[in-house]
Amino acid sequence: MTLREGADLAFLLAAVCFVLGLHFMNSPATARRGNRVSAGGMVVAVAFALALVADGGTMDLTRWLVLICGALVGGAVGIWAARSVLMTAIPQLVSLFNAVGGGAAAMIALADYARRPTQGSGTDLATVLDVVIGSVTFLGSLLAAAKLQGYASHPVTFRGSRALQLALVVIAVGSAVAVVARVDSLPVLLVTLAAALGIGALLVLPIGGADMPVVISLLNAFTGTAVAMAGFVIDNVILVVAGALVGASGAILTKLMADAMNRSIPAIMAGGFGTGAAGSSTPGAGGGEVRSVQVEDAALQLAYAERVVMVPGYGLAAAQAQHELRELASVLEERGVEVYYAIHPVAGRMPGHMNVLLAEANVPYDQLREMDDINPEMPRADVALVVGANDVTNPAARRPGNAVSGMPIIDVDRAKNVIVIKRSMASGYAGIDNELYLEARTAMLFSDAKKGLAALTAAAKSLVG
Ligand code: NDP
Repeated sequence: MTLREGADLAFLLAAVCFVLGLHFMNSPATARRGNRVSAGGMVVAVAFALALVADGGTMDLTRWLVLICGALVGGAVGIWAARSVLMTAIPQLVSLFNAVGGGAAAMIALADYARRPTQGSGTDLATVLDVVIGSVTFLGSLLAAAKLQGYASHPVTFRGSRALQLALVVIAVGSAVAVVARVDSLPVLLVTLAAALGIGALLVLPIGGADMPVVISLLNAFTGTAVAMAGFVIDNVILVVAGALVGASGAILTKLMADAMNRSIPAIMAGGFGTGAAGSSTPGAGGGEVRSVQVEDAALQLAYAERVVMVPGYGLAAAQAQHELRELASVLEERGVEVYYAIHPVAGRMPGHMNVLLAEANVPYDQLREMDDINPEMPRADVALVVGANDVTNPAARRPGNAVSGMPIIDVDRAKNVIVIKRSMASGYAGIDNELYLEARTAMLFSDAKKGLAALTAAAKSLVG
């Protein structure tokens, strides 16, 4: 068997590992195994890719040194980032990885084009698509990471941004067509790249509030597509397969997120859809006052309820309070209280964030209720305990004209009583006030989630005891 044939078999094995890995990620119980299987496939793919490079006879000492140093530096940064990142900062990290993937794919196409002996002999569509999609993803994902980090998380718009966006699309398409149609010019391809970078920036800047989750999975799909294009450019089948898997799963996730959020993908890409009057607050429906509650009173209410629905959000993740939430639930269950957890599709800062957190705390899966399943049951809940969730409970979403308009919410305001644990009256990611806090049936327990839940558990235990 030649090395080439061996590599093809190894790439096939790696592709099978990627598919199996994705399959295992269907459930939190097997997700770790999925990660290991996929990583194993990637190690095999990289090893055989290196063997092919070595066999190709194009490497000299300098090139090997550059390659090894690059791999060592990149690997070290990757390991450090993955080990030191806070759970709440994983979405930013994923966005940065998207940027790196898209940027690398674009550079592969650019380097391949620049290396050709005679430009002007025309190039294939894959090269141009790789440059365009990779560049859009690169700058778009960097800005998305910055937004998730809290820099300019509101929609950023300026006069003429739509016209500029249109102009950049025309330039990108025009120059890309010229390159494919044999215009002899690396500079023309660089114009395509610059226009695509601009498109990436203008795609993400006007997005905020409820649209961010969709745009993040869209950028993830773009990264996969750019990588697949890079595979076509350098004729590497495993890049095509891995890229296509990421692109397809990202596209499916984007569609699911968009549907769950009542958003349309083309409208989001056109920019600023659903952002409404960003930053504006909506007056409370009842025009009421904020009522705060003490730990003992809240514990009493919970302990004497028949049905309690826990509604976790980003603040639970920030406080790493999932174990305390689970403990409180156990104490209540000992008293015979029925406890459920309401999972909003975009609670937290990444798709599935709450499922991951609650799985980590060993919350039984049968107590998790998706938003559409729990909402009809909300009027039967004696207490909805909202822990660090804000936007996903804001009744303002039911009205047009604000940053969360149209986003489906957990209907906590339809429960008999609502207790909200958060530290202050500060707004959530979308930056608008939550009129739930002004409702007569809502009581605010101002506290850090971890401390508040621990105190509630202690108080509830003393009642049990
Ligand atoms: P929000 O961001 O709306 O609100 C979180 C709340 O948690 C804040 O108001 C904050 O209030 C509180 N909080 C923060 N730290 C603590 C703490 N230590 N203890 C107690 N409370 C705390 O969260 P939601 O989960 O309700 O909504 C998610 C938002 O993020 C949505 O707007 C969604 O569109 C967006 N988003 C989601 C993504 C996803 O894929 N899931 C990706 C990107 C954005 P206070 O400071 O007063 O404590």
